[in-house]
Amino acid sequence: MANPKYEELPVLPLRGMLVFPGMVLHFDVARPRSIAALEAGMTANQRIVLLAQKKEEEEEPSSGDLYPTGTIVTVRQVMNLPGENVRVLVEGDVRGTVESFLENEDYLKARVRICKDRVVRSNEGKAMVLAAQNLFENYAKSSQKITPDMVEGLRSLEKPGEIADLLAAHVLQKWQEKQELLSELDPLRRLEKVCGVLLRETDLANAEREIQSRIRNSVERNQKDYYLREQLRAIQNELGEDEQEEEQGYRKRMEETPLSEEAKAKCAKEIDRLSHISPGSPEYIISETYIDWILDMPWGKETTDNLDLKRAREILDREHYGLEKVKERIIEYLAVLRMKQNMKGPILCFVGPPGVGKTSIVKAIAEAVDRKFIRMSLGGVRDEAEIRGHRKTYIGSMPGRIISGMKQAGSMNPVFLFDEIDKMSNDYRGDPASAMLEVLDAEQNNTFRDHYMEIPFDLSKVMFITTANSRETIPEPLLDRMEMIEVPSYTEEEKLQILKRHLLPKQLEAHGIRPDQVTMDEEIMRRMIEGYTREAGVRTLERTAARVCRKAAVYLLDHGTDSVNVDAERLHDFLGAVRYTREPLEKEARVGIVNGLAWTSVGGETLEVECIPMPGKGNLKLTGQLGDVMKESAEAAFSWVRAHSESLGLAEDFYTKTDIHVHLPEGAVPKDGPSAGITMTTALVSALTGRKVRQDVAMTGEMTLRGRVLPIGGLKEKTLAAYRAGIRTLIIPAENHKDLEEIPPEVLKHFTIKEVEEIQQVLETALLNEK
Ligand code: ADP
Repeated sequence: MANPKYEELPVLPLRGMLVFPGMVLHFDVARPRSIAALEAGMTANQRIVLLAQKKEEEEEPSSGDLYPTGTIVTVRQVMNLPGENVRVLVEGDVRGTVESFLENEDYLKARVRICKDRVVRSNEGKAMVLAAQNLFENYAKSSQKITPDMVEGLRSLEKPGEIADLLAAHVLQKWQEKQELLSELDPLRRLEKVCGVLLRETDLANAEREIQSRIRNSVERNQKDYYLREQLRAIQNELGEDEQEEEQGYRKRMEETPLSEEAKAKCAKEIDRLSHISPGSPEYIISETYIDWILDMPWGKETTDNLDLKRAREILDREHYGLEKVKERIIEYLAVLRMKQNMKGPILCFVGPPGVGKTSIVKAIAEAVDRKFIRMSLGGVRDEAEIRGHRKTYIGSMPGRIISGMKQAGSMNPVFLFDEIDKMSNDYRGDPASAMLEVLDAEQNNTFRDHYMEIPFDLSKVMFITTANSRETIPEPLLDRMEMIEVPSYTEEEKLQILKRHLLPKQLEAHGIRPDQVTMDEEIMRRMIEGYTREAGVRTLERTAARVCRKAAVYLLDHGTDSVNVDAERLHDFLGAVRYTREPLEKEARVGIVNGLAWTSVGGETLEVECIPMPGKGNLKLTGQLGDVMKESAEAAFSWVRAHSESLGLAEDFYTKTDIHVHLPEGAVPKDGPSAGITMTTALVSALTGRKVRQDVAMTGEMTLRGRVLPIGGLKEKTLAAYRAGIRTLIIPAENHKDLEEIPPEVLKHFTIKEVEEIQQVLETALLNEK
């Protein structure tokens, strides 16, 4: 072998199966060309390369019919079978990718690049290995195919690539899926893919088990019910009673309930049916359940609205600190409601990061107007049937969650909250968004049809309200029907007030502790916020407060005292070491790494942009799950740098010799939008010139091809994120000046704000002259 990275090997095409590196397998070879390849391999060094055929049925595959990536194997044994067939035992050695096929008449031959897995040392790699091992253990529990030995075997492996291969061989069912894994040369990505499959398979296996056990239970239950009912009937017959009674009970209830015309007809028909079927039979039970559902709905029941605005304001204020704009908007909405006396109008949608009080403010609205409150989370709802129900011919079918919610509310006019309306997804089971569209449409929702109920139900008196983390993922037609109310993240000062006035008192009460039993001054509360939480809302803070209360309760009992003052030391005892430090970033300036700011559905976040040059031909490589808009702004940034190479002190033709890789770490968060334009330009300039970037600077701004800086959205969220990350200097587009008003002064005072119009100003601020 002249070049150790390549080998020239005979090719053996495989159909419908694969061999992974590290695996030992035997299979039969019959095709003459394959046998020739095998013989050639045996006479050389016993090595051949196995490549899967794209189409199994191809008899005489040529180079184009094979996947280019396969496995180089050592042939351990060859056994002649009757006829021309041969059985081989091979041991997979390493992945190989075909560079080129070589001229040869008798069999296929190729020059193959040997693809050893790169060595992974990162913590991410270790974490993924652990995760994969745990996933596999879970999978093994739910699947009968995996023995404990295999689980143990996997535990003893350390290399992500090997683990991925072993899992792929055991877990994947289809050879095409295996091929996909085989073609993935990066070990971490391969492991990630296989973990995805494992999760899916575990879910499937669990679901299968659950269904089996449900069926078993329901059959057993039905048999038992049937037996009991037969006995009951015998007893009733003896006593001269009969099942007429049940029917009569239903008829009476039906007369007393103000059903709609259609509902009445349907209900009467179903009661008639009941008299013809034998009690205890499955049909009887289906019928009975159905009649119960109809009669249990809140026909004609309504609560009386209280539209006293002053009282509403008081309730909103009592439950929530701050949120002035939001509260004002709610009061306006209630005022309009009072004037118009009907619910036709836009549906309110509260948009903001998690934990900023969207759900709880809707609850307060319900309380303020004296309506019942029902909440339904749409997160992850994919199946239209969850909203609209299953037809009642299916055993065990039920109405959808809208009708169930209405029954639970017990009135025709509750406040009905749809949480996370941006998290619905659709697949083959139907499109929940279109069902939601009908529910939320004032023109149609007076005759909402559930698949189970089969009769129209009037939803027009319901006050529907929705929440979402981000408006981007709300389906467009739904968006049209809703009025967005932004609920922004909280500043540390606001969090302090919320903790002091709401969360702590609430948690103390929930833990049965009097307010005077646990005391804590503001400085300690601040420490709780800054040291133990890092979030846009106050959810973790609430949990942290609950934790303090639990620990305090134990302390009071243990020490037999009546009160405890939580000081710094005790806080440390209660909560453990501080998790986050908000010391200003004294990090050293670095080359090619720039702090950007992003605005995601969970609030603002800092986002590092990394960039390195390498020898090449002017290609720009982008990684880190960037959206299209972001990719374009990276290209624009690169063009700008090329156009200004001279003034930047770069060789005019630098790009003819250089490739550039731009990476935005934390691959799991999808990133898009134009606001990283100036960040990417700065990273490029730094990487190419070698000038260092100040790490206490963060920036956000879109950039035109000519280097003008354009305004961006979400400045408040981004500023709060920068504050949380200890940034000292913030570069923002000059045109965003007006948005600074929205940012509380106590936050702004931590920053030097640079308002810029041109990219040069950004570079002057962020780049140091030193290299
Ligand atoms: P979201 O629905 O936005 O995710 P939640 O309504 O679940 O948030 O809020 C989380 C917790 O924080 C709730 O207990 C809520 O009462 C509390 N909370 C949020 N904002 C405030 C506020 N401004 N004042 C008082 N409590 C608040």
